[in-house]
Amino acid sequence: MTVWDDLQGQPAVVAQLRQAAMGEGLTHAWLFTGPPGSGRSNAAKAFAAALNCDQDDVTMRGCGTCPACRTILGETHADVVFVRTENVTITIKEARELVSTAGNRPSSARWRIIVVEDADRMTERTTNVLLKAIEEPTPRTIWMLCAPSPADVLVTIRSRCRAVALRLPPAADVAALLVKRDGVDLALAERAARAAQSHVGIARRLARDSEARERRLETVRFPLGLRGITAAVMMADKLVKIATEEATSSNEERDAAEKAALLATLGAPETGTLPPAMRSQVKQLEDDQKRRAKRSITDSLDRTLTDLLSFYRDVLIIQLGNAVELVNVELRSELEEFAQRSGPEVTLARMDAINNARKRITTTNVAPLLAVESMAASLI
Ligand SMILES: [Zn+2]
Repeated sequence: MTVWDDLQGQPAVVAQLRQAAMGEGLTHAWLFTGPPGSGRSNAAKAFAAALNCDQDDVTMRGCGTCPACRTILGETHADVVFVRTENVTITIKEARELVSTAGNRPSSARWRIIVVEDADRMTERTTNVLLKAIEEPTPRTIWMLCAPSPADVLVTIRSRCRAVALRLPPAADVAALLVKRDGVDLALAERAARAAQSHVGIARRLARDSEARERRLETVRFPLGLRGITAAVMMADKLVKIATEEATSSNEERDAAEKAALLATLGAPETGTLPPAMRSQVKQLEDDQKRRAKRSITDSLDRTLTDLLSFYRDVLIIQLGNAVELVNVELRSELEEFAQRSGPEVTLARMDAINNARKRITTTNVAPLLAVESMAASLI
């Protein structure tokens, strides 16, 4: 295996990054863009591993098996920092810390690499803090910024970065990856890839977790029973609950693993109570996890609304008589009946309402339930 194996459906990006890792067209600042689920942060991580890979032969860089590759993929390499914000935006303080890290020479690797996973979650003031570091980089430092699209990053930053544009892989490629990497049955992998609209991480979850599949089906069926304001209020409440459950269950596994790893590092006794010094470190971790949980509920709600959107997208396709495959094939007869009850302009207005709610939830501090309620009322 190599570090490029997980970048299914991105041959152009892999070719570009391999060349750069061999020294052709290498630069100090990179901007990885692509829709959620296209794997932009995985691409940055693979590139970071290839740049610091221990292989002497440059054509072998990104071997995936040397200590450098393995620690970078596992996010434990001292010279490669991954920045992902637990809050809605990256703060100025966090940006200053990054700039100071970037000024240090790498301790053992060829390059010090800073991967900023949510470069779109920076305010203009914060971006300006990074700008100087990116304009005049330390010779052995490489910045990798990730964002949904180039427009999400200030033009002053964008113009100094080399662009790496990922596309959403075709559903068939995502299904193939699930079969090969996760041993998922082909029919289930295809269904999950389509329902996730090619988002690799979500597809994997849907394929492996039947409760996640049920929650999704419940979401996309909501419009079928939406007949009045009472139903709309109930739907909003349920959507927020579903998103919260989804976020909690996907966090639980990771939280427990992190705690176990921390206890092992501290050399904690396997049973009995923890000494006070250890307790405070565990508490710190739990506080961080709580903050992260809040952010992941926002992300999960956005994802739930994307599922809801897929219902209306399918309705629109039927209303327009397009020969495009439906996302929710299993609801075809319900979708067809629903499509008869209105016209495409009504469906488009409903899709706008959902997209407005998504925007309000992810970019402002509005209470999620309020945003979802007002959206639900306009879907009636
Ligand atoms: Zn390697």
